[in-house]
Amino acid sequence: LSARAHDVVVVGAGPAGEVAAGKLAERGLDVALVERELVGGECSFFACMPSKALLRPGDLAAETRRVPGVSDAAVEAIAALRRRDEVIHDLDDAGQLPWVEKRGIALVRGRARLAGERRVVVDGAGPDGGPLALEARRAVVLATGSDAAIPPLEGLREARPWTNREVTTAQQVPPRLLILGGGVVAVEMADAWARYGSAVTIVERSARLIEHEEERASAAVGAALRRRGVEIRCGSEVTAARREDDGTAVLVLGDGAELRGEELLVATGRVPRTAGLGLETAGLEGGGAIEVDDRLRVGGRDWLYAIGDVNGRALLTHEGKYQARILADAIAGRDRALREDGAPPPRVIFTDPAVAAVGHTLASARRAGLSVTAVDGRVDQVAGASFWGKGEDAFARWIVDDARRVLVGATFVAPDAQELVHAATVALVGEVTVDRLAHAVPSFPTRSEVWLQLADWADATRPAA
Ligand SMILES: Cc1cc2nc3c(=O)[nH]c(=O)nc-3n(C[C@H](O)[C@H](O)[C@H](O)COP(=O)(O)OP(=O)(O)OC[C@H]3O[C@@H](n4cnc5c(N)ncnc54)[C@H](O)[C@@H]3O)c2cc1C
Repeated sequence: LSARAHDVVVVGAGPAGEVAAGKLAERGLDVALVERELVGGECSFFACMPSKALLRPGDLAAETRRVPGVSDAAVEAIAALRRRDEVIHDLDDAGQLPWVEKRGIALVRGRARLAGERRVVVDGAGPDGGPLALEARRAVVLATGSDAAIPPLEGLREARPWTNREVTTAQQVPPRLLILGGGVVAVEMADAWARYGSAVTIVERSARLIEHEEERASAAVGAALRRRGVEIRCGSEVTAARREDDGTAVLVLGDGAELRGEELLVATGRVPRTAGLGLETAGLEGGGAIEVDDRLRVGGRDWLYAIGDVNGRALLTHEGKYQARILADAIAGRDRALREDGAPPPRVIFTDPAVAAVGHTLASARRAGLSVTAVDGRVDQVAGASFWGKGEDAFARWIVDDARRVLVGATFVAPDAQELVHAATVALVGEVTVDRLAHAVPSFPTRSEVWLQLADWADATRPAA
């Protein structure tokens, strides 16, 4: 068995692993980065990047229809899919390699597994095509990401469903697309493919789409999807699936109804990639997410860390990259911890309208036992909205902690709301009081003036002196 030593061995070159390796190398550490597939991970090739590339043309076309004075634009599927392929570099990671090389990171291609304390074995990476053992003088970082969950429904696996991988890289528009699940991936992909002409049906067990967001956000996204022809069946249980001889995919519902499509997307959540990772060799159990403390350490060990989707904290690229920066500091000797509860990462659903939120919704704040007031504003009624067109259900909500008078949550629902939420993240992390926020004056005429509206209305809820 050939072997070599590095200061740190990072397993998985998705956004979390790449940033960790980069930051550690920039601090002068000798880093090996192991990747079994594509440098850039799920995000660059099968998730964030292609999904946003698929959504953007439809958003722009819709905007031209809302704003008088521009001739209506239409989406062109062939050109849009070609542009999506450019964004994912035709599934070739060569473009990512100069970044890795420039930092002197040793890239090791192959599937890695833990083999005891500070030791990783990479199959097929040895000089003779055999295994390569990597000793980590300081630490091993697990950043292996997550896979699409396939629920254990009768016939589902045999029906060859699409996961995020196929739906984001498809080369043809399926005439009919069935979607199992009603969360973020489901609504984004329904929006994208409906606009390229697919007849999309969403089947969701819960009473509403994107159920962790504000009810009004679910309603606005649902209404927009319906306007684009998407059929939405919430409160419906799928009991079985099958693929017929002619290739048609079928979903069987609890009431016996059957839905048919050329393709069937499973979008029912993610499972952490820990299978075959050798966790047991470090005395850990496999199965669920790898639990970490606020310094990303696994089980308090000073040599083992887990970042990104695999630790299950918040399955978002910017969160994985944030954890990677904290981790690099921790390993390089600067003691920093993850931010405390109450300042979680923002989450954006890139539908049209987009839903961009940070922190609590009213329901989650109440579940957490907080005494809060919801303050609602209308993004479509501030002057800046005049230039964004008409007829959008665009609104904002702050969740204000009654005792501390600070924001503990904010939601924006509007076209391009993703660009409105960062100010709320700053306000949450900075624990700025709403009374102080009244002095943060947004420019006229921008849609950010909804902040002023919310601050005025929050002022009206100020407890009497
Ligand atoms: C359709 C879709 C859209 C999304 N859109 C967004 C978005 O817009 N914004 C956002 O913030 N998040 C989005 N996400 C979530 C985002 O993709 C993930 O949070 C992110 O990819 C997690 O990064 P990661 O580095 O933890 O893991 P990954 O990106 O999964 O990367 C892990 C890497 O580890 C490698 N690996 C795994 N096991 C091994 C092993 N044993 N040996 C060697 N290598 C291994 C894998 O090949 C992979 O390259 C989306 C997800 C989906 C499914």
